[in-house]
Amino acid sequence: MDMIELDGGQGGGQLLRSALTLSLCTGIGFTLQNIRAIRRKPGLMRQHLTAVNAAARVGNACTHGAALGATSLRFEPGVVSAGDYHFATGSAGSATLVLQTVLPALWRAPQPSRLRLEGGTHNPLAPSADFIADSYLPSLARMGVQASMQLLQHGFHPAGGGVIEVQVQPCAALQAPQLEQRPALHALQAQVLMSGLSSSIGLRELQVLADTLGVDPHPRHVQSIRPALGPGNVALVRVQHGSHVEVFDGHGERGVSAEQVGARLSARVQQYLQGNAYVGEYLSDQLLLPMALAGGGAFTTHVISDHLASNARLIEKFLPVEFDWQPHEGAWRVTVEA
Ligand code: ATP
Repeated sequence: MDMIELDGGQGGGQLLRSALTLSLCTGIGFTLQNIRAIRRKPGLMRQHLTAVNAAARVGNACTHGAALGATSLRFEPGVVSAGDYHFATGSAGSATLVLQTVLPALWRAPQPSRLRLEGGTHNPLAPSADFIADSYLPSLARMGVQASMQLLQHGFHPAGGGVIEVQVQPCAALQAPQLEQRPALHALQAQVLMSGLSSSIGLRELQVLADTLGVDPHPRHVQSIRPALGPGNVALVRVQHGSHVEVFDGHGERGVSAEQVGARLSARVQQYLQGNAYVGEYLSDQLLLPMALAGGGAFTTHVISDHLASNARLIEKFLPVEFDWQPHEGAWRVTVEA
């Protein structure tokens, strides 16, 4: 088996997850050293270990060193099997990041698959289930991937306990995305999720978003999540240009006022609206891998994040593609070519 040696020291969990995904898609095994070395608590956390074990199940792989806290891992993929899978992070670890790890391998399999994922669905440093449903999966759909998601139970940090289910159909070939000239603004909507906390907090966040972004402040946009598995508060803003949706989120925190949560979220939305880039910061690093599998594509984005740069360099080690980014009309134009 072809094996490559990787150094995860320049990034976080994403380098591990991308290596797992690409290993399943290419059949190339890897060893990864210095896993999350630059993070405060290096090594595999529960969410990362769940992703390793999920990839190993889906790809009938052999792993060496897959344990909590491990800073190196060897992964030897077998043959990917479509099927009915159930993975749980057993904490508020992000269920959506586990989903993103195995999804590309499953859409390349010859039969449909179903996934049930348990864990966090609305984590501060990961794609929310709403982002997956309204931004990530529709972006993949325009490339030809048929996958749908149902959010069965919200899971907020730190209680977790969320559940999502995903169905994915086989996809023989991907179309390269061209997301360069952003279409006109079509819709701007806000929604606030409240779990086990007073809805007055959500109404205050919504009011800030209404005052600064002009979204509809009607109280029906504050949703109480029942059953409440733990405290949770997430404000979401969906921005739609043409058929492209970006989902921005702001998380309530102890010691941070509802007004501050709303204002910080609003500032990020305004930065995106005032620019001319098509793709938001988070989606930009998440689109690289599907684009590389498609063998081409281009998008504009307003920032080249560390995630984007380190993910691009890792993907180039597995696939015969080259990423490039150049300043373009006040933004960046990111391209990939085979
Ligand atoms: P680490 O703890 O090492 O940072 P991690 O596994 O939690 O590792 P990262 O390597 O930081 O994660 O990767 C996080 C991923 O989540 C990235 O793809 C990033 O774009 C995405 N992400 C983070 N915040 C958001 C958000 N608010 N909305 C959508 N996606 C997000």
